[in-house]
Amino acid sequence: MKEYYEKKTVAFSKDSSNLFFHILTKCNLSCKHCYINPGQHGENTLSIETIRQWLNLFAEKCSQINVIFLGGEPTLHPDLLLAIKEARSLGFKSITIDTNGYLFHDILNKISPDEVDFISFSLDGATEKTNDSIRGKWCYQTVIAGVKKAVAAGFSTSMIYTVSSENLHELSMMPDLVKELGIQRFFIQVIGIRGNSAETLSNFYPPSSESSYSEKKNNLELPDNLNLPDNLDLPDNLDLPDNLDLPDNLDLPDNQPSDKHFLQLSMEQWLEIVPKVAARVAKLGITVTYPKVFLEHGEPFQCAGVVADNYFIFPNGRVYRCPICEDYPVHSLEIQNNTLVQTDKINEADLFGLEIPEGCVMNKLIQPGNISYHGDGTPCHRIACCMLKEEIS
Ligand code: SF4
Ligand code: SF4
Repeated sequence: MKEYYEKKTVAFSKDSSNLFFHILTKCNLSCKHCYINPGQHGENTLSIETIRQWLNLFAEKCSQINVIFLGGEPTLHPDLLLAIKEARSLGFKSITIDTNGYLFHDILNKISPDEVDFISFSLDGATEKTNDSIRGKWCYQTVIAGVKKAVAAGFSTSMIYTVSSENLHELSMMPDLVKELGIQRFFIQVIGIRGNSAETLSNFYPPSSESSYSEKKNNLELPDNLNLPDNLDLPDNLDLPDNLDLPDNLDLPDNQPSDKHFLQLSMEQWLEIVPKVAARVAKLGITVTYPKVFLEHGEPFQCAGVVADNYFIFPNGRVYRCPICEDYPVHSLEIQNNTLVQTDKINEADLFGLEIPEGCVMNKLIQPGNISYHGDGTPCHRIACCMLKEEIS
């Protein structure tokens, strides 16, 4: 066991970018916290020719770009192998496949460990009972078998554990499991962190809720204190705050609170458990990455949409710079006729530069329940950019 480990906040840089490339949205699973939204992301599977053309849009800077193939489930794509080969031949900095573990199309026998840098497996429980209650029956056994097969074949593997109220209790069991499996990198993700509104949301979206997406989509309440221009064309049922200066003419879409809300953690749960488990994993010699979430006093706030270069591409051609925006048609880029073009204002990029005491402006607009306030109205914490990570190795 390592005696010492290094912890650092991974600085944003324009010289190291990530291309999160959703080559399809189809998936064999239906995880409770799935963020794929076919209404906003498309339902099509990109042809290999289109994938090639879209990868080539980033060819000029590809030596600085990590490409991550995702879906849906990317191994459902019959030409994933060819997509990987194209990315490799173009010279992208690294190539990762994010999989739910089912490894369709016998993908491990079609690619070699030299062709991908990481195969990243998602597991949301240290036990079959917990994982499968979130991700679906038989999933646990399938993922474990997939990891073992990949490790035995010489692939570098990582694991993503999305922490929620349903699996937080098993996070402490993960260090031993990832070590036993031979995982090299462990990513702890967060569904969301809630502040004062935890109780309200919990009651509103109980775990047993089976309300349809359309029933839920109009219920988001924006926080107090946003100062919006008078001429905004906003949905009637948005409860808008009073002191955030947003650009004129922003047509915010209907909001879509989802089942994710009842899975969210409190700030106390996150701070109490996640950093400690991460340190234990690091002591085992495994690199751990987890979102910073809360800025410490005096720590500068930075929006990755301003100071970094990340691209979240969906099969319908939308390209976002901020993952929080993905449920809304506010993408700042779009691929039209295989050309990357800027979208009309108002879009996400018009919001990135807004400075508010709460930190991330999109968090305040879309996930206001994540913010708690002192009695005088000042926020208890500033919320970091969701892409700001702590890394321990
Ligand atoms: S495996 Fe991924 S894409 Fe598929 S349902 Fe689960 S979260 Fe969604
Ligand atoms: S999460 Fe917030 S801070 Fe990060 S890119 Fe999006 S808007 Fe900017």
